[in-house]
Amino acid sequence: MGAVSEAHEAAESATIPTVSIQFQIEARSGSARLGRLITPHGEVETPVFMPVGTLASVKGVPQDILEELGVQILLGNTYHLYLRPGVEQVRKLGGLHRFMAWPRAILTDSGGFQVFSLNDLRKVTEGGVTFRSHLDGSSHFFSPESAMEAQIGLGADIIMAFDECTEYPADRERMRQSMELTLRWAERSKRHFEEHKKDVPWSIKHVAPDTSSGRQAKPTSGGEHNENHAGGGARATQGTQSLFGIVQGGMDRPLRKESAERTIAIGFPGYAIGGLSVGEPRALTREVVESTLEHLPADKPRYLMGVGTPEEIVEYANLGIDMMDCVLPTRAARHGLLFTSEGKISIKQARYAGDAGPLDPNCGCRVCQRYSRAYLRHLYASNEVLAQLLNTVHNLSFYLDTMRAVRHSISLGKETGSSCVWSRPKP
Ligand SMILES: [Zn+2]
Repeated sequence: MGAVSEAHEAAESATIPTVSIQFQIEARSGSARLGRLITPHGEVETPVFMPVGTLASVKGVPQDILEELGVQILLGNTYHLYLRPGVEQVRKLGGLHRFMAWPRAILTDSGGFQVFSLNDLRKVTEGGVTFRSHLDGSSHFFSPESAMEAQIGLGADIIMAFDECTEYPADRERMRQSMELTLRWAERSKRHFEEHKKDVPWSIKHVAPDTSSGRQAKPTSGGEHNENHAGGGARATQGTQSLFGIVQGGMDRPLRKESAERTIAIGFPGYAIGGLSVGEPRALTREVVESTLEHLPADKPRYLMGVGTPEEIVEYANLGIDMMDCVLPTRAARHGLLFTSEGKISIKQARYAGDAGPLDPNCGCRVCQRYSRAYLRHLYASNEVLAQLLNTVHNLSFYLDTMRAVRHSISLGKETGSSCVWSRPKP
């Protein structure tokens, strides 16, 4: 009897693996790392740029085109999804992957940064943040616990600890207090996550036990297999979500070091550098990134939140950042600002009205292969919906190709200079 129940317990525990992502570094060049992040919804080649899909949508671009572009991981915003359509709604529909028909990996932010941006509408206490919805002014409260609950309900593969993003500029005392609060919130986030991570909508517990093959305990075998998740069926996979910690500390190097060390002491499978791109000069951003990276473990993924231009993402990848996200390529595209191998183009300008050439002669994307600058200019000037789609597809393609070129260079042991961005290989 004892043997049977022991075997049963062993089988039970085998279905709840403690590690839900794996990170392998495959090559290095200087400080840059070529890696592979294996998530419950497929592999992500790093360094990676993650397009932002705020409301479970990369504005204007259908999911099949994102797949065609080679997007392996998308970012969703908890604050926005919490307000609309609501976490419970998404959870009941099987979680974000199934809801938005996106079988590949997803990362959600904690909502902290978005709430931070609601300057006049928020109040921070030890317990959490009270804020007013930008939609209807209704009052809401986010705590480390409720932010975890929301992110578990949404079910992204990687979720973020609830943090306070320190404003810029801030004096040292303010930066310290804010960092201490973030550390206390990181501990609460982790505690709540560990207690409730089994509640993720796609968790292993929904799969019929099949311990004979040991199938459920095996890590996913890769992005290729994702192709088989036809049309949005995020199948139940092994593992649970992974919670990343966030390093804060304002623009102060010693505080960044302390924040990194104490966040690492709490223990997370990956670390983000938060609190940057909040209005500080770019040289300072770089300085803080560089000095923070020194204190992060070499074998864990490092995520720099909210950057940057094509040149900057190359620079940060060269410093040893593995993951980045930014609204810039998608937001700029909607305003007719396009990144090309010949520099930035504002497609609304009259000088493109008669330009029969491609948007970017060195780009292999479906937009540059098919349409002229004149046509894109016409679509934009006429406020056609297609302008948004085509512009976004090109900008995303440009960013993703840039990161492909960076990965290629690292694999060859070369550091990518920003000039190399412009001579990247065709996919
Ligand atoms: Zn293009």
